[in-house]
Amino acid sequence: MRTKLFLAFLAVIIVALISNFIYENFVTEDFENYVEGAKEDKLYWILASVEGSYAAEGWDRQSLHDTVHWAMMLGFDLKITDSEEREIINSRAVEEHLTPSMKRRMEGIIDRSSAQGEFESYPLYQEGKEIGAMLVRQMKRKGSIDEKENIFKERGREFLIISFLIAGGGAVLLSVFFALFLSNPLNKMKRAVESMAKGDFSVRVPAGSKDEIGRLSESFNFMAEALEREEALRKHLTSNIAHELRTPLAVMKANVEGMIDGVVTDTREGIEHIAIEVDKLIRLVEGIEDITKAEASFFSRKNYSEAELSGLLSSFSATLMPLASEKGLSIDYAAGRPLHVFTDIYKLETIVQNILSNAIKNTEKGSISIQYGEEKNLFYIEIKDTGIGIPDDKKQLIFKRFYRGEGSQGIGLGLAIVKELVDVMGGSIEVKSSPGDGSAFRVWLPKHGR
Ligand code: ADP
Repeated sequence: MRTKLFLAFLAVIIVALISNFIYENFVTEDFENYVEGAKEDKLYWILASVEGSYAAEGWDRQSLHDTVHWAMMLGFDLKITDSEEREIINSRAVEEHLTPSMKRRMEGIIDRSSAQGEFESYPLYQEGKEIGAMLVRQMKRKGSIDEKENIFKERGREFLIISFLIAGGGAVLLSVFFALFLSNPLNKMKRAVESMAKGDFSVRVPAGSKDEIGRLSESFNFMAEALEREEALRKHLTSNIAHELRTPLAVMKANVEGMIDGVVTDTREGIEHIAIEVDKLIRLVEGIEDITKAEASFFSRKNYSEAELSGLLSSFSATLMPLASEKGLSIDYAAGRPLHVFTDIYKLETIVQNILSNAIKNTEKGSISIQYGEEKNLFYIEIKDTGIGIPDDKKQLIFKRFYRGEGSQGIGLGLAIVKELVDVMGGSIEVKSSPGDGSAFRVWLPKHGR
């Protein structure tokens, strides 16, 4: 990751440098073309001036002398020849005739010793007739455009080196920066995934930032939590189920063996015992299915909708009314102020009906009341009965899977399912109860969904 990032930065920087380099080359080339063009222009002025020094009566020596003089000042070493290739004048001869002050000025501008190499020949014409030739070679001008050109090129090279150093340093700094802020969290996640692969589902990664890495960490933690729950559920259920199956199976086995051995003579009674245990097993399997669904709802898509609480509660309790009436109990439900909540109606229905059916099961006389209300961003539902009540030391146990109070005919999963669903919905549950006085279960849930 770090190396890849570094290489990516380096690639970008190299591309930038190459374009810089190409740009610099173009500029230098344009500059050289300009210098070359300017030199040619000067040569044509000199050529025109030399041709202008020729008349029908021959060469105007003074004019030639002046032309060769300023050509030297412009950096050209000249020789002029006539049509028979006889030399008429050259730079050296002109220089000898200069006054000492003019010579000094010339030496200040021109490096005479640089006049070396081959002369280039340009033919001279006058009215279509060749009148001679101008031989030219270049000399170096002090502080001239040649030197400026070199300085310009030198600066360009320096600029390239400096920008390379800045860009290279930048690449190193950026890759260190990204390594710290990008690859470190990813490395932590990699280590977490590795421990998870070894079976440790308790690992979590820090998920502080709001960016993609932060969101990835949140998703990772959610996945880890889901797997941890799944694993715990699997372990609990397997051991609990084995335990719960043992009793009905033992009773069935004893009855079957009794009938085979002739110990149980009333076969019908024996079969009835087996039928009761089969019933228990069926209810057990249904209960396991329900709690598995409740646990699994943590993973499923949220199914929230807007609903009015008093209407919901009256429809939930209506289903259990016949069960209460059978025992001569009343369900007092006083609809209060309409309260709109955003909630998972199906989960809420299971929660209310499980608590309500427990209240009916555990109450022999009196009544059951349902109330609701709100506080800040929460709403509550309270179901109160006048039943047998729950001893203090049992209040925590009742939410455990397969826990049954004395005399319970149930399978001990009702409140475990309630607790699971309330947890999944982000709520809490409170129990107030004293033996003999009845119990009150209050469920708190968020008003605006999870
Ligand atoms: P089940 O009702 O199948 O036994 P639950 O999980 O619903 O299982 O309840 C666990 C235990 O909690 C019950 O066996 C009972 O002893 C106790 N309990 C639950 N609700 C009440 C209540 N309203 N009054 C008294 N005891 C209760």
